[in-house]
Amino acid sequence: MVAVPSDIAPIRSALLDWYDASARILPWRAGPGASARTDPYRVWLSEVMLQQTTVPHATPYFLNFLSRWPTVGALAAAPDAEVMAAWAGLGYYARARNLLACARAVAGEHGGVFPDTEAGLLALPGVGAYTAAAVAAIAFDRPANVVDGNVERVMARLFAVETPLPAARPELKRLAAGLVADDRPGDWAQALMDLGATVCRPRTPLCGVCPLTDHCAAFADGTPERYPLKTAKVDRPRRHGTAWVLFDDQGRVALVRRPDKGLLGGMLGLPTSDWAGAAADTVPPVAADWQAAGTITHVFTHFALTLTVQTAAGQGDFVWTAPEQALADLPTVFRKALALAVPGVARSRRPSAASRS
Ligand code: SF4
Repeated sequence: MVAVPSDIAPIRSALLDWYDASARILPWRAGPGASARTDPYRVWLSEVMLQQTTVPHATPYFLNFLSRWPTVGALAAAPDAEVMAAWAGLGYYARARNLLACARAVAGEHGGVFPDTEAGLLALPGVGAYTAAAVAAIAFDRPANVVDGNVERVMARLFAVETPLPAARPELKRLAAGLVADDRPGDWAQALMDLGATVCRPRTPLCGVCPLTDHCAAFADGTPERYPLKTAKVDRPRRHGTAWVLFDDQGRVALVRRPDKGLLGGMLGLPTSDWAGAAADTVPPVAADWQAAGTITHVFTHFALTLTVQTAAGQGDFVWTAPEQALADLPTVFRKALALAVPGVARSRRPSAASRS
């Protein structure tokens, strides 16, 4: 089993010195060595958004949320539908529902003040081990072990871990924990994240400018890109369904509110068939002269979905919405389907901060 060196001071000082000079400037950060720590609301919000998405993608969403709901109390008081619409395009909609549940717990049970320990944060609804550690370290300077995908990659290379992911996760976490110390834990966590994001990149790591080359086993072997080793992927199952794009005589599009439970729960969407099976169920929501517009594909975490898109004019009991507004508010899979049915609108629409995906 790979061991952390008994003297971690050279590794830590090399990385923290680099961070002092090269930290990314991000809207949720206080900056290296800041005497005032970052607002925990900002840290928590950014960390929830950054799970499974990139900084450039999450940043406009973060800024939009912060301008609309500048405090956790304001977010807690927001209507569910507004928050879900503002989240649209970030994906993983269960996370938006957890976001609201957590904000309401902080506002209702903690007087609007986030707990300042990892254990206290972990007790909040929807806050997992990673988010609790990140908020504890970054907002409260607690010596928490913050391990995201970037940190896993840095550990795998630094220590040339031969176990493939995902089995290597406990070992990578243990190695990362061995480098945490009481001195500047918030900066340490962010320095590791920054190194993984900007230097120790998944492909073509920039070892020539890395502060850790003297300590890096993968660099010494000349094979940094070999790590982290990965178990061969199994192809995602493919599912099929139909999305119906119905326009009324004012050019508005018919939307439905999806059930609270399940994929994209609680979000507005186009009427669709069940897409749980391998074959498309093609019973439309209303009788009309349906015409095929084509197909779109969207990849979810556990399956790839092909939707056949059909369009028609008609009436019915729906949430009637202007196509431009729907393109701004809908989850990405429905935007793709709608854009296929109204390509002119999709082309002319300028993405807003809240709607890029
Ligand atoms: Fe990553 Fe290269 Fe730095 Fe090692 S030397 S941590 S492989 S960038």
